[in-house]
Amino acid sequence: MGRLAGKIALITGGSDGIGLATAQQFVAEGASHVFITGRRQQVLDEAVKKIGSKNVTAVQGDVSNMADLDKLYSLIQKEKGRLDILFANAGIDEVATLNSITEKHFDDLFNINVKGVLFTVQKALPIFVDGGSIILNASICSVKGCVAESVYCATKAAVRSFARCWTVDLKGRNIRVNAVSPGPIDTSMWKAAEISEEDKKAFITGVTAATVMNRFGTPDEIAKPVVFLASDDSSYITGIELFADGGLAQI
Ligand code: NAD
Repeated sequence: MGRLAGKIALITGGSDGIGLATAQQFVAEGASHVFITGRRQQVLDEAVKKIGSKNVTAVQGDVSNMADLDKLYSLIQKEKGRLDILFANAGIDEVATLNSITEKHFDDLFNINVKGVLFTVQKALPIFVDGGSIILNASICSVKGCVAESVYCATKAAVRSFARCWTVDLKGRNIRVNAVSPGPIDTSMWKAAEISEEDKKAFITGVTAATVMNRFGTPDEIAKPVVFLASDDSSYITGIELFADGGLAQI
């Protein structure tokens, strides 16, 4: 019996990186079913193979698209009748210094990282029939100055505020809401940045040196704190932001 035995869980952006590692941990902790979402079916199919459990369902969809969210929750309602754990993890990062920020850059980041998280959670509430735990993926960026990431950082500051406010909004529903704030984690997010390989190398060296641990974290090093927040081990914890950042916030 694991710490999530019998629980029905949803992880948005569960096809890769932190979301995929969390799906693996949820299954290892005995979750009775884990739904994962992502934008690309092929990547989702590969993720299901990697997780290797019959208790996983992949649902293709975009968290910023209301129809996709409605479809997702209808499916969970129909198949399982309830949801106990939601990890609102899907998010994107794009770089732009202040003078190069475009309207599209702003809209893309806010649509996915803020609007996507907001409606992922709001639309899940009717199927949290028996209390539960909601975890939002913020970022250490929400409290630090980061070069060329001001819009991304602002989206993550919104997410950490969501956790604090929603925990109060949901008083009386027995639903805990917390945020996890990762430091630099070795996922494809870092490889996707549209900057030269040379700049990327310098950036990564600088970020590594900015952590106390002097290294990037692994997706598992976020998945495990998420299991803690999802499970009854954190039953009296709500509205917090848990830093899992290799000490970056302290430097
Ligand atoms: P990743 O690129 O490996 O995974 C991102 C996942 O989100 C993928 O499954 C992708 O399909 C999904 N996704 C992206 N946009 C989506 C959309 N519109 N609809 C549905 N799914 C979508 O990246 P990751 O590093 O695992 O990032 C996961 C979360 O962690 C993000 O919210 C990110 O901001 C946060 N985070 C990452 C780091 C880091 O250093 N990697 C640090 C702090 C916070």
